Amino acid sequence: MASKPVVVETVQELRALTGAFRAEGARIALVPTMGALHSGHMALVRRAREVAQKVVVSIFVNPTQFGPTEDFSRYPRTFEADLEKLAAEGADAVYAPTAAEMYPEGFATRITMTGPAEGLESDFRPQFFAGVATVVGKLFIRCAPDFAVFGEKDYQQLKVVTRLSRDLDLGVEIVPVATTREADGLALSSRNAYLSPEERSVAPVIHAALKHAALNIRGGAAPDAAAAKAVETISAKGLKVDYVVARHAETLAPLTGAQGEPIRLLAAAWLGKTRLIDNLPA
Ligand code: AMP
Repeated sequence: MASKPVVVETVQELRALTGAFRAEGARIALVPTMGALHSGHMALVRRAREVAQKVVVSIFVNPTQFGPTEDFSRYPRTFEADLEKLAAEGADAVYAPTAAEMYPEGFATRITMTGPAEGLESDFRPQFFAGVATVVGKLFIRCAPDFAVFGEKDYQQLKVVTRLSRDLDLGVEIVPVATTREADGLALSSRNAYLSPEERSVAPVIHAALKHAALNIRGGAAPDAAAAKAVETISAKGLKVDYVVARHAETLAPLTGAQGEPIRLLAAAWLGKTRLIDNLPA
């Protein structure tokens, strides 16, 4: 039985711990999460263990990335179960700050970004990437990891934090991990816990439609037409589509049609009260 990770709540404790890791000559990988951990998160922890000698997992449901009508208060919180999973996976430490520890009285700074943070999620969640960039910036400064591991599940976020680390010289190498899926293709997400059995049975349509669109694009179909077809397929199952688009896989800019341009299909849709996102290379 693996030993439980050390749990720290304050920045002072975190710095003491990471200082001790560094004094041993260990390199540190940080895995930022909002908890309610599932096997997608565990794939990130396994990758972190491959790249660094010490793995720190942060668990923090970040209030500033949720909009006023979003699911912050009902977001699943399963701390004890999360610790068991992280122990089994061999994580060394968990950083679980309170909101007051992260944003003390008078907190007045926000990191806002352009480039990959523009459009897509930002069109529907205008507060989201400023919330993400600010908290990830703080986590990077507090933990000072060599690596930070992020999932491709949140593809735009992956590009945003990569840009953030470069732009602010945070010196953290971003390590991407492919999306973990259920057998029927549904991307694992803490929010899947909200789905009723009926909703759960139609949720894989997002992945299926993206897969179909990717195949069509590789077969020569126009990316915009393939994405529009995916919107139809997903809508026909009763979901409300926020977007399905084909973008440049690195910059997330609209496609120029250049030969050999790397393409990523990205989607977001509401299934009842649950918002699901997914993406695939085309
Ligand atoms: P969250 O707890 O949802 O904020 O996610 C924390 C990290 O886990 C992010 O880097 C996500 O992209 C990643 N993640 C969430 N779900 C998956 C998944 N199904 N496969 C791979 N990574 C994931």
